[in-house]
Amino acid sequence: MNIPGSRALKGVSDRKLLNDVRRLSDKERETVLSILVHLIEIDRRRLYLEMGYSSLFKLCVKELKYSESVAGRRIAVARCIKRFPRAYRALASGKVNMTNLGLIAKVMTEKNEKELLGGIIGASGREVERLVSRHNPRTVVRDRVRPVHVRTEIRLRGADNAGNSKNETSKSLDRRAGTTPTGGSGKSPNSSGAVDMFSGSGPAAATESGSEAAASGDTAMMVLEERFEIKFGASQEFLDKMDHLRSLLSSKHHRHHEFEELFMIAMDEYIERHSPEGRIKRKEKREQRKATRTSEAPKSDSKQKPDSKEVSRYIPKKVRDEVHARDKGRCTYVSPGGRRCGSTWDLQVDHIVPFARGGDNSPSNLRLLCGKHNRLEAERVYGKEKMANHAKKHGGQYIKERGAQYVKEAGERYIRARSAQYTKERVDQHAKKHGE
Ligand SMILES: [Zn+2]
Repeated sequence: MNIPGSRALKGVSDRKLLNDVRRLSDKERETVLSILVHLIEIDRRRLYLEMGYSSLFKLCVKELKYSESVAGRRIAVARCIKRFPRAYRALASGKVNMTNLGLIAKVMTEKNEKELLGGIIGASGREVERLVSRHNPRTVVRDRVRPVHVRTEIRLRGADNAGNSKNETSKSLDRRAGTTPTGGSGKSPNSSGAVDMFSGSGPAAATESGSEAAASGDTAMMVLEERFEIKFGASQEFLDKMDHLRSLLSSKHHRHHEFEELFMIAMDEYIERHSPEGRIKRKEKREQRKATRTSEAPKSDSKQKPDSKEVSRYIPKKVRDEVHARDKGRCTYVSPGGRRCGSTWDLQVDHIVPFARGGDNSPSNLRLLCGKHNRLEAERVYGKEKMANHAKKHGGQYIKERGAQYVKEAGERYIRARSAQYTKERVDQHAKKHGE
C-alpha cells in the first residue's frame, strides 16, 4: 500500500530527506513540550475531576487516547519538569529525551537531580536503568525458579503423521524470532538480508506455512505448556560474556538467540566435554572418524581442505581469527562522516579488494564487516542493480532454503528443549480425539 506522501519523497535528495526529518523532530519536541505544559496546568486545576475522571492518568488514556505507558510517562515527566527547572531546560534543549527523563523522574530529588540529568545524556536504555537502580537500591536478589503456564499453539501434521514427534510449533518461532537487535529492514539476497526476513518476520513466516499446513490437512491446537520463570542476579562480567556468546552465534546462525537457547548451548558444550558419558561418546566419534578416514584415503593424512579450485577463496581459520582479533571483534565500516559502525552482530570477514577482482587472502586485504555493511559495500562495488539482479536470480532459492532450514532447526530445538513425553502425550490425545 502507498502511504500518503511517500510517493512524493521518492525523488527527494538524501540531504533534504535527512534535513527534513531533523526539522520535523524539532517540531515534534516543541509540540510534546507544549502538551506537557498543558498537562501541568490541567493537573493544577484538577480539571480531570470535573470531567468525571478520578485522575489525570485516566483523562490521558480516555480523552487523549494515549496508551497507558505513554500516559504514565508524560505525567511523570510533566510533574518532574514542574518541580525541577533544570529538567525542563534539559528536555527543551533536546539534551535529554522523554523516555529517559520518564525513567529517572521517579527517583529524582533536589540532591541528585544534577547527577541524574547529566547521567542520561546520550545514555542507552540499560545505562539509564543502571543509574535508576543505583538511586533505588535493593537489599538482595535471590535465585528463584517459578513454574508458569503458557498458552502455546502446537501444529500437528496431517492425521497419518500424528504419531510423528517432529511437529513444528509456530509458537516457538514467535518467541524465538520476535526480536533482532539490529532490526530488520532488507529483502537483500545475501546472508544478512535473508536472515532479516526470518529473524525479523518469523511469525509471518510461520503463519504463512501455517495456512499451507491447514490446506494440507494439518491442525493447530492450543495447549497449556509448563515453563519455568528463572530469576537471578548477575554481574557485569556475566552480561558481557552473554553478549559475546550471542555475537559469536549470530555470525553462525544469523539470528537472535533467546536466553534459554544460550544457556542450552553453553550447558550442552560443557556436559559434552566434561561428563563421563559425553567423553565416551566423543571418543567413539573420534575413533569412528579415524577409521573411515584411513579406509577412504590411505595416502593423505592431512586434514581435507577444499579442492584446488576453491583453495584461494577459502580463508584459513587462523587468518580469520587474526582479522577478528585485529579488528577487535567489531564491524570496521566507517561512514563518509567518520562514524564507525562497531556492531558485533553477524560479523563476516570481507575482502577489501574483492576476490573476483584479484584481491587475496592476506590479513591486510581482509576486514570485519557486519552483515548489513557487507551488503552495502557489495552494492557500492558491484552496483545496486547488479546485486538486485543477483538477488532475483539466486535470492529466491536461497531464501527458500534458509527458510526451510530455519523452520526445521527452530522446530527441532523447540521439541528437544521440552520433554519428549510431553509432546507425545499431546499427540496421543489428539490422535484419540480425532479418531487417528
Ligand atoms: Zn556495520
